[in-house]
Amino acid sequence: MQFDYENAVAVVTGGSSGIGLATVKTLLGAGARVALCARNEGRLEQVADVLRRDFGEERLLAQVVDVLDEDAVKGFAGAVEARWGRCDLLVNNAGAGRQSTFATTEDDEWRAEYELKLFSQIYPIRAFLPLLREAKGAIVAVNSLLAYQPEEHMVCTSSARAGVQNLLKSLSIEFAPDVRVNSVLMGLIESGQWTRRFEARDDKSVSRAQWYGALASRKGIPLGRLGDPEEAANAIAFLGSRAASYITGAQLDVSGGLARHI
Ligand code: NDP
Repeated sequence: MQFDYENAVAVVTGGSSGIGLATVKTLLGAGARVALCARNEGRLEQVADVLRRDFGEERLLAQVVDVLDEDAVKGFAGAVEARWGRCDLLVNNAGAGRQSTFATTEDDEWRAEYELKLFSQIYPIRAFLPLLREAKGAIVAVNSLLAYQPEEHMVCTSSARAGVQNLLKSLSIEFAPDVRVNSVLMGLIESGQWTRRFEARDDKSVSRAQWYGALASRKGIPLGRLGDPEEAANAIAFLGSRAASYITGAQLDVSGGLARHI
């Protein structure tokens, strides 16, 4: 898939694994300079070393940042400005889902989930907005199909994600015409979260292919499989690119047909 990001600067939160890492690679492959962040320094540096080798030192900035630490996020924006003086695309991807029902979600967990989902958008957007406005750039938020199609075993994360969609819609209006704001609604993408669940499976004799196949069939995914992180990255790169210049306030579902709403 080819996108034109020549001369552009992109920022990807949670860029050291899964969908975020695939997005970093796609954007680098399309010519962008990319800044990525994550919390775990060892994994971030390991990934960054490979990316520097493959795409060149001068096109990469990797920084340890927890997106829930506003000062750290501001520092990250400052580092991007100092290094490249611009930001054309912010991909808010950092995060994880929480599996719990209403009965099993404690108050602290509700608060933590709402904090993660909302402030992982709010802090990076606030920090990068001046640069994005200057560049007439774009924000792409990685969200979940659960925002529209809640599941009872993910009640807390589903409702927080619905709030995020509402917030993004408001921002798409407030930031227009300078900055476009769109989101990608992920179904089941074969990345870090699912790898961890696979590794924690009860029956270790079940192979990876069998486990994922059974999951796709249990969930009733029309395309019959989970998505690859690269397929998610393509949707993100499209919405962030000049090819999507008349799209704002929109959401694109990447779920293999799992979305049931019209
Ligand atoms: P991964 O676990 O593979 O990657 C998550 C990335 O985010 C890692 O780089 C992680 O690094 C980073 N991260 C997590 N929390 C923070 C934080 N507070 N600050 C900075 N970085 C952070 O997950 P996925 O690729 O599967 O998920 C990416 C996004 O997509 C998440 O927001 C997830 O909720 C969403 N999503 C994924 C779906 C799927 O099926 N995979 C479905 C629906 C939504 P580190 O731990 O070092 O910080």
